[in-house]
Amino acid sequence: MQNYIFQLDSNKQPLDMIHPAKARRLQSQGKAATFRMYPYTIIRNISVKSPNTKSYILKIDPGATWTGFAIQCGEEIIFRMELKHRGGLIKKSLEQRADFRKGRRSRNLRYRKKRFNRKKPEGWLAPSLRHRLQTVETWVKKFLKLCPITCIEIEQVRFDLQKLENPEISGVQYQQGELQGYEIREYLLEKWGRQCVYCEKQDTPLQIEHIKPKSKGGSNRIGNLTLSCPECNQNKGNQDVEDFLSGKPDLLKRVLAEAPKPLDSGSAVNSTRYAIVEMAKNLCDHVKCWTGGRTKYNRVNQELPKSHSIDAACVGESGSKIKLLVSQPLIVESKGHGTKQARRANQQGFPALNKDNQPIKPKTKYTHCEAGDMIKFRLEKNRKTVRAGIYKGRVKTPTPKGFEVKIDGCRVSQKMEYLIRFMHRNDGYAYSF
Ligand SMILES: [Zn+2]
Repeated sequence: MQNYIFQLDSNKQPLDMIHPAKARRLQSQGKAATFRMYPYTIIRNISVKSPNTKSYILKIDPGATWTGFAIQCGEEIIFRMELKHRGGLIKKSLEQRADFRKGRRSRNLRYRKKRFNRKKPEGWLAPSLRHRLQTVETWVKKFLKLCPITCIEIEQVRFDLQKLENPEISGVQYQQGELQGYEIREYLLEKWGRQCVYCEKQDTPLQIEHIKPKSKGGSNRIGNLTLSCPECNQNKGNQDVEDFLSGKPDLLKRVLAEAPKPLDSGSAVNSTRYAIVEMAKNLCDHVKCWTGGRTKYNRVNQELPKSHSIDAACVGESGSKIKLLVSQPLIVESKGHGTKQARRANQQGFPALNKDNQPIKPKTKYTHCEAGDMIKFRLEKNRKTVRAGIYKGRVKTPTPKGFEVKIDGCRVSQKMEYLIRFMHRNDGYAYSF
């Protein structure tokens, strides 16, 4: 089913989220109108004095490229969204700029005094990471405006080092399939670098491995555990690690040296996730933080498929028993707001020139529409592969008197007079399902 619909009263006060069918009925009866296209929100023509709303939990699973969002009401997951970040692109373009500057400056063979204090302030995040924090913040604010959210739950860390409490020294009870087991798995993944320790294979399901086999008196302490691929696990069987790795003395030395060392506590904390939690605490009174081990435990226990928004739904204690009502998450991709560069640079970092040796001018900005606007328009005549009719699409490029839209992989340009309406003006995101 589709996501539930956000509902505002005439004073833009958030009301209970409703089933899409009910929203359609309200709209066809003239009791509500579309307020926002993405995420779909309706506005009622009545004002509610004190809306007696249910309580909603906003759940977030922050990731490097994708962040999952879910809204839970009781046991039901009624809204799912997956947000794609553009941190990689930001990093790339800033690195390019830095290279241009470095190149230009190193050509100057004069000494230049230091002009600025370039010390990074406390809590500084790299621009690509700050973007992640800020887009998540934007969306949390949006949800708080549209929905009576009472609590935010966030997956803050992969595993809880405090709960494992010096695992290498004191030892923890480990059992496959238990919550503690998942926390330990996440801990081991971080410690051993997400690969098989014996053959260094990556992107394969890893199994928890006893370095000294249990049958020979090996303990369940984390210091005796590592991760290996199923083949290596099988091949090792109940051999001692010394026998199994007799052909690879360097590796054996490393494994034996690494195993008893506890993981550095810094590696459990992720600065962006930490900043996201701090941001949420400023926006909402009830913020709960959970571990990735628990998320995975909840997801595996309920036999749910892996996806960013389902992971978000499985965050925390409230994720241990959920009913997924939504099969189709809203996919949101950060697209940025184009470039403001006045002169484009060539490979050497100098202004790029056209064939008349003049600097290439920046693209003309049009006001009638913008790249990224979602529009509904009429196509008057048949085109090569596209038939005439009414279409919805995202403006690819604005043209002097109209727009260009991609339909089924084919670029179609149309004049402004064939525009029926703007569905959603460009806000730096692309939306799909
Ligand atoms: Zn292996």
